[in-house]
Amino acid sequence: MKIEARWLSQKGTRTDDNRDHAGIAWRHGEFLAIVADGATNGSNNGGYARAIVEAVIDWFPATDDAWRHELMQARLREIHQALRKSFPRGSASIILFHVRDTGSLTVLHSGDCLLGRHDGHVHWQVTPHTLANALADMPLDAIAKSPTRHLLTQSFRSREFMVPDVLAQKKVSGTLLLATDGFWAELTESEQEVFLGGGQSAAPERDDRSVLQLSLSTGEPTEILLDDGGSTNFYVRTPAPQKLPRSSVMEDVTFAGDKLPNFSDLFIGYEARIQAIFDRIVAASSVNFPPQLEFTEEDSSMLFKCKPSEASVTADWHGIASLWAMSQGVGRLCAAMFNARRSGQARLDFVEGSEAELGYHFIDEARALVKPRGHRWNTYFPKPDLGSDRLIAGDVFFFRAIEWILAHEVGHIVSGHDDRAWTAQQSRDEEREADRFATCYVIGGLAANPGRQPRERPSQDEIELERRAIAAGLGLVWVAIYEDTRTQDTDMYPAVAARIDDAITGFGLADDSAALEILSDFIKAWIDPEGQWPVAPPSDATARSAMDEACARLYDHAREARQ
Ligand SMILES: [Zn+2]
Repeated sequence: MKIEARWLSQKGTRTDDNRDHAGIAWRHGEFLAIVADGATNGSNNGGYARAIVEAVIDWFPATDDAWRHELMQARLREIHQALRKSFPRGSASIILFHVRDTGSLTVLHSGDCLLGRHDGHVHWQVTPHTLANALADMPLDAIAKSPTRHLLTQSFRSREFMVPDVLAQKKVSGTLLLATDGFWAELTESEQEVFLGGGQSAAPERDDRSVLQLSLSTGEPTEILLDDGGSTNFYVRTPAPQKLPRSSVMEDVTFAGDKLPNFSDLFIGYEARIQAIFDRIVAASSVNFPPQLEFTEEDSSMLFKCKPSEASVTADWHGIASLWAMSQGVGRLCAAMFNARRSGQARLDFVEGSEAELGYHFIDEARALVKPRGHRWNTYFPKPDLGSDRLIAGDVFFFRAIEWILAHEVGHIVSGHDDRAWTAQQSRDEEREADRFATCYVIGGLAANPGRQPRERPSQDEIELERRAIAAGLGLVWVAIYEDTRTQDTDMYPAVAARIDDAITGFGLADDSAALEILSDFIKAWIDPEGQWPVAPPSDATARSAMDEACARLYDHAREARQ
């Protein structure tokens, strides 16, 4: 049997330590895993959970006794006795998973760690031992919401030894999950999928959450592959397992083979359109040596850059992927945020499984993709596909945003800048000059009608101008945040807010501009999607004032990101 073990764990906010622990061990033809969740109250329950895991994992490969669940129960009783002295008030939930090469499975559990089968949805196989469901069966989502679920009727606790429940199955394969309650009880189904894809929760108040994902392929040669994500709460005891490269762990039916594609392959359908946009910019700006566009998959610190001495502009596929994810997020969130603002809500509440919720996750993904080591595609998200109806709105934003960014890079070349500025002041001036070039190119001679009264319908030209302003704004926000935070020398770039303000002035948008409103909402979603923002009374709530506030927040955000 081939087993791919993947440990995903995120510390919560309630204790100083992550009290979820896990470990794996194996011996000839058998594999054992354990997950333990130390109780939140009490000072040393993280240490208790770790001690249980280590005791089980150290014992298993060293014993010759034939596996039976009674053997495990007896061993747990000994471990319980041995740990009582050091942990007189110890309390933890545990789940143990034993599988043979033949596929026969035994699970022992005590407390609220659960076993699930995962096939795109999670199907929970056991019920937790909580007061909420002690007297009557209850669906798991109802248990999750019940305040009494935190009171455990059974667990691994020093006070008394309680024999764990046993579940046995003759033949298992596929993907199984061992999860702590921070995963099954605090995350919605779609958030669970994001977490399994490698995403982390941003909830301000949360429990430790962890999942040990085990993908079993029977009929394959014995092989155990481990991805522990570099975490310190995972314990392995055996000949060192082969490390699985992070990018190939993801299980996904849409990709053939065992390797995820490069970003360049993922976005192959987009390359020609991006190239055509670039060619139009170059054609519109008469220069002696027309700049060339190159694509790269290198992990460089600058995702879009230019080298005027060689008349070349380079676009990194990771930057393209991030910009695309951001555009898909905005495409989905715009309508929802626009409506929320109209109805006076200070924050968005997402309907589970809605496109708006997916948009919100896309924003997180856009952020993750620009991190130097966050370079892998999360299969929770739909793949880039120019033919997909579901992606059209986001694609429109994407192509307009990348147009502004490419124009900015061409702007450096057209303006005769050197490859490197001599001083920080020169650098800032050159950035603003490139910004102005890009904004001017994107405006393309359109203008808002200054005589139009508020709420009077704008002309077709003005609507088109608004669309282009959104695109420029998105490109600018994206580029400003990442040029700003990814480079060492931060005073080389003008403040994000000042750049946005310049661009808005350049567009000459009206105070009730929908583009301003959408952009301010977008900045809000980017910086603090779950936060409460003051809602001005409708009489003073112009798009312009919303944008001013968003810019002020963006300024603080960029400053914090730098520290
Ligand atoms: Zn620049």
